[in-house]
Amino acid sequence: MSQDDLAEQKMRFMFALRSKGVTDARVLTAMESIDRGPFVKGIFTDRAYEDMPLPIACGQTISQPSVVGLMTQALDVSPRDKVLEVGTGSGYQAAILSQLARRVYTVDRHRRLVAEAKSIFEAMDLGNITAFTADGSFGLPDQAPFDRIIVTAAAEDTPGPLLGQLKVGGIMVLPVGQSDTVQSMIKVTRSETGFDYQELRPVRFVPLLEGVARDN
Ligand code: SAH
Repeated sequence: MSQDDLAEQKMRFMFALRSKGVTDARVLTAMESIDRGPFVKGIFTDRAYEDMPLPIACGQTISQPSVVGLMTQALDVSPRDKVLEVGTGSGYQAAILSQLARRVYTVDRHRRLVAEAKSIFEAMDLGNITAFTADGSFGLPDQAPFDRIIVTAAAEDTPGPLLGQLKVGGIMVLPVGQSDTVQSMIKVTRSETGFDYQELRPVRFVPLLEGVARDN
């Protein structure tokens, strides 16, 4: 791809984000500065700047950029926040969060995805991200509590340990649903007295699975 083509594609990318409702200036700046290209590998690299989910290793997907933008916007991250992401995948969402938060912890059940994401974080000099291989349904008890939690794989219900690891005043954004096709993005806010649930929009994510993957 020529430099001109690349610049044109990146402009369209930013336009697509805005037209789908990503309006938060800090989120847009983060998405402008983190190149999606390196997170998309192989035959799909040419499509990195299209507003589409794309296949990555281990049968997983890198989320659609506008969905990344809308989820990040709903998470309302501030510069002092410690954030947990469950579902590292390509590492793209974690990289966006790294621009907005003080510290990002990200976990995936596939060791290979974590290793590949880590090497991109290093190459991009994103020093405030720590990535682990683990079953993220249990959160990260050693690093808890978190100001913000984002889950990028769909469970039937909000995993209990994640609720427990959210600070009072904290926000969690995640897809929940009974099936692979019908899911909602929800925002959970923790108050002194309990949890407030808000349904945001229909989404479609790969499932949150149990345990660390055996093909690691
Ligand atoms: N946020 C990613 C996209 C994630 S796709 C990105 O920006 O590219 C969903 C990811 O969740 C997959 O990589 C899958 O392996 C992971 N996953 C599914 N169940 C999990 C679990 N219980 N714990 C940790 N990761 C899980």
